[in-house]
Amino acid sequence: MRLILLGAPGAGKGTQCKRIVAEYNLSHLSSGDILRQERAQKSELGQKAQEYMDSGSLVPDELIVEMMAGAIKKTPQEGFVLDGFPRTVNQSVELDKYLEKANKTIDMVINLIIDDQIVLQRLTGRRSCPTCGAVYHIENLKPKVDGICDNDGTRLVQRPDDTVEVVANRLKTYHEQTEPVADYYRQNGYVFDVQADMDVDQITDLLFDKLDALQKA
Ligand code: AMP
Repeated sequence: MRLILLGAPGAGKGTQCKRIVAEYNLSHLSSGDILRQERAQKSELGQKAQEYMDSGSLVPDELIVEMMAGAIKKTPQEGFVLDGFPRTVNQSVELDKYLEKANKTIDMVINLIIDDQIVLQRLTGRRSCPTCGAVYHIENLKPKVDGICDNDGTRLVQRPDDTVEVVANRLKTYHEQTEPVADYYRQNGYVFDVQADMDVDQITDLLFDKLDALQKA
């Protein structure tokens, strides 16, 4: 199966992707995670992406398309879930061109729909552990000791792009540039819209039902 998961930042794409790839044995290709790895390695791409990411703007299409085409090429045949990519209509067009050349198609686009106010509350309260990657929330998922990871005692950090100003800009960017991506795929008739303010497990159940049906079709 080859899937695309769309949705505003903070809609829960990462969580649902992890569950989908585990259940259906797919590769998780997250453009944001790949960019953060590139930054950590101080690669040329990572350095070019830094400023855009920290301000909540999009990294230029040509850099992202090349990076994601490379990631898709390396994945095994079972398939993949694209998370955070494509984020502009131009990226979708370029992805289609690449897939056509590689003789591959997208089977379904999942679109997680969420209110801006919920995104703001979720993301600005998010904290993570730089050592083990565990994610917490200052109100909804508190660690046992404020600001300290339960697993390894490391001081928790806020992602630089989870501050109020940057989240507001990420949302603006999403509405202007990424929402039209769902409409682009809608023309082909394979978008599955899901309200993402429900319980996380409920959303997973809905997605698994849909994907089971897709596999049987
Ligand atoms: P994410 O973790 O998916 O929210 O991505 C973090 C940041 O990486 C975004 O705010 C963008 O600056 C950049 N980024 C991730 N994916 C893309 C993409 N497909 N196109 C352009 N920029 C991206």
